[in-house]
Amino acid sequence: ESYKRIQEVDDKVQAFLTLDEERARETAKNLDAKIGTDVSKGLLFGMPIGVKDNIVTKELRTTCASKILENFDPIYNATVVDHLHKAETITIGKLNMDEFAMGSSNENSGFQKTHNPWNLEKVPGGSSGGSAAAVAAGEVPFSLGSDTGGSIRQPASFCGVVGLKPTYGRVSRFGLVAFASSLDQIGPITRNVEDNAYLLQAISGLDPMDSTSANVEVPNFVQALTGDVKGLKIAVPKEYLGEGVDEEVRQSVLDSLKVLESLGAVWEEVSLPHSKYALSTYYLLSSSEASANLARFDGVRYGYRSPNSETLMDLYKNTRAEGFGDEVKRRIMLGTFALSSGYYDAYYKKAQKARTLIKKDFEDVFEKYDVIVGPTTPTPAFTIGEKISDPLTMYINDILTIPVNLAGVPGISVPCGFSNGLPLGLQIIGKHFDESTVYRVAHAFE
Ligand code: GLN
Repeated sequence: ESYKRIQEVDDKVQAFLTLDEERARETAKNLDAKIGTDVSKGLLFGMPIGVKDNIVTKELRTTCASKILENFDPIYNATVVDHLHKAETITIGKLNMDEFAMGSSNENSGFQKTHNPWNLEKVPGGSSGGSAAAVAAGEVPFSLGSDTGGSIRQPASFCGVVGLKPTYGRVSRFGLVAFASSLDQIGPITRNVEDNAYLLQAISGLDPMDSTSANVEVPNFVQALTGDVKGLKIAVPKEYLGEGVDEEVRQSVLDSLKVLESLGAVWEEVSLPHSKYALSTYYLLSSSEASANLARFDGVRYGYRSPNSETLMDLYKNTRAEGFGDEVKRRIMLGTFALSSGYYDAYYKKAQKARTLIKKDFEDVFEKYDVIVGPTTPTPAFTIGEKISDPLTMYINDILTIPVNLAGVPGISVPCGFSNGLPLGLQIIGKHFDESTVYRVAHAFE
């Protein structure tokens, strides 16, 4: 069914970079043979799933939407992919993204532009644009994305689907091609909250292969979907409804708060005073980490190697010049500069201090409140081509999602209305490792 739908719509949506049809059919056949036997079958048994192309899949091309990895076939699976196999899902293929997850529109993909299924002239968001569009277009009911500064929640919001960034450490990053290691998390994108909870359940947990994965219990997320939000205390940061946020977006959040109020929750306005530093802090830290993480793509170890080099230094230079796209180069330059001696204290160290203050803002609010609620993005999906020539306008789109990564807390985007036929998303942010409450609130909208 998935492949039929992909054939029908994917030349328009362009969500998939690579399909794995032969193997998927083989897996389906093996799973079919289990139906009717008493072998225990999990709740995701036989479910088709798409995987963002920065999550490595054994012997299945993994490009990060970059020319530098155009023909890269990994020799191992990411831990989350092993979890999917254990849950007996069927991997349909690999999904388009902004190159190395840097971007908010999928226009930075080295291969193709994914279109928003609600309106093909609009972007699907990014960087997990392919993952969100594939679910919205009905190509797959489940997908995995990654979120460093909003890359799961922002495209989920633009495409009218549900996307969760888990608490940092909840899901193993082993086999996720690193962008900014202290911020990256893999998470589920689905059509509804219940499916999302099932998928998070399947991929969560401590992993000896990732020293930053957390040794905390994985609760039963689905059990949290009680529909009961009575007495819940909701904080609404005034910075999230202020300047730059569309009137219709603001209104949809206020309407959603009314729904929660009618169900017995209470809400109050609060302040996250350091929010104004989040964007610059994020771009300094994420680019610094990226400049170090991307040093490994040198033409020797993986993927593309420039054919026209005489010396080793030329090989490095030519490979990286020809292999990386403009946005990736921009970030590497910014990061290298911020980390260079003489500038380190003024930029990188300062940004680390600002990050601590931003995190503390969240901790202060969570002393009194159960969740924080606001919009996922200041506007609905924008038009393809509209922002690509001005990186700063593009960066501002992530202003409401980035602080969540800096603080390491979980956040979800659930559909909460429409503006001119384009979906809007409500962002619900929780305490560290309290995805259950986030899901419980999100579920109240279904
Ligand atoms: N759009 C942001 C960026 O370009 C976030 C990306 C992400 O979360 N991977 O860095």
